[in-house]
Amino acid sequence: MVSSRASTFTESVIREMTRVAQQHGAINLAQGFPDFPMPAPMKDAACAAIHGDVNQYAITWGTPALRLAIAEKYRRWYGIEVDPDREVTVTCGATEAMAAVFLALVDPGDEVVVFEPFYENYGPDAVLAGAKPVFVPLVAPDWRIDEERLRAALARRPKALVLNTPHNPTGKVFTREEVDLIARLVIEHDVPWVFTDEIYEHIVYAGHHHPIAQWPGMAERTVTISGLSKTFSCTGWRLGYAIAPAAASGAIRKVHDFLTVGAPAPLQAAGAVGMAFDADYFNHLAMDYRARRDLLCGALAEAGFTFTAPEGAYYVLAGYGAVREAVDDVAFAKWLAADVGVATVPGSSFYRKRDGAGRGLVRFAFCKREETLQAAADRLAGIRV
Ligand code: PLP
Repeated sequence: MVSSRASTFTESVIREMTRVAQQHGAINLAQGFPDFPMPAPMKDAACAAIHGDVNQYAITWGTPALRLAIAEKYRRWYGIEVDPDREVTVTCGATEAMAAVFLALVDPGDEVVVFEPFYENYGPDAVLAGAKPVFVPLVAPDWRIDEERLRAALARRPKALVLNTPHNPTGKVFTREEVDLIARLVIEHDVPWVFTDEIYEHIVYAGHHHPIAQWPGMAERTVTISGLSKTFSCTGWRLGYAIAPAAASGAIRKVHDFLTVGAPAPLQAAGAVGMAFDADYFNHLAMDYRARRDLLCGALAEAGFTFTAPEGAYYVLAGYGAVREAVDDVAFAKWLAADVGVATVPGSSFYRKRDGAGRGLVRFAFCKREETLQAAADRLAGIRV
């Protein structure tokens, strides 16, 4: 007998597709983890910390060194002043940060606005907190906000709005005008919180990343969630953080304490080294990803997929065309993994479960070495969708 809570959502399709990839020996362009090494100075710092016996529980809400490094990077990049002692909580990945934030700030029955398509964790996060997600469409092909629906959703005075920019799965980077619109409406309707997931903040190819916490009147109602997984290619380290006003941070820290006690101590020591890297590192990261994006997008266009080139993050949400429109996206993704040897994520995983949403779409991740992407491109060259 399992809880009704746990039976409300299904297992993660993204993680399931990694298993499907392994089963078929397919190239895994499903789950968003890099297959290239993370920066050597951080690996060295982690080894030094382990050998130096930094192996016990750290302070629950994060080591002072990592919280300070996070706050300093925030000031350097965005000009936002953050108090590392009272406003930063280090978590086991952005994943835990988002779950803890929901549990700390949302009550059962509260409405939470989520743009759709969405990173699949937000649905279960809402369910775990007993919240009612209200979806606002991002409209294809360029994933612009459906402004009328946004206004209507915010007029219902939800407890929070979840923002994710750069956006998974579409690769959209919310423009200054869009962030401005969201901030204005949130303030106008006195929505208490924006939970903004900015884990791809340093992976931007077009336009700029605009943290909503920079907008006048928004810092006090924003929880910024980010992490080290994507910026430092260390998804297995499980290091993330939430930046929130002190009172909210107090609640987030309590939930985080009872969920996990804290993030791995030696890796936090190494995380502080990465957060202090100079601008060159972050700029090169985006340039390297741009080359990977262009390689994959070229192969997808050749094979007949339709898509809007991502402006940020490392995903392409691609339509597989009229020929196969009749085919369910799950069946299509399984065929692509088993017969073509390229694993993707079915588009419907990024929409709430209802007829047709996301059908005809699959998501490709391009956070892979050039050789991996070239091998995938060679396999895709054999098909026409
Ligand atoms: N948020 C978004 C939008 C993501 O795409 C992902 C991973 O794919 C995460 C959070 C997970 O981040 P973390 O590894 O820090 O838990």
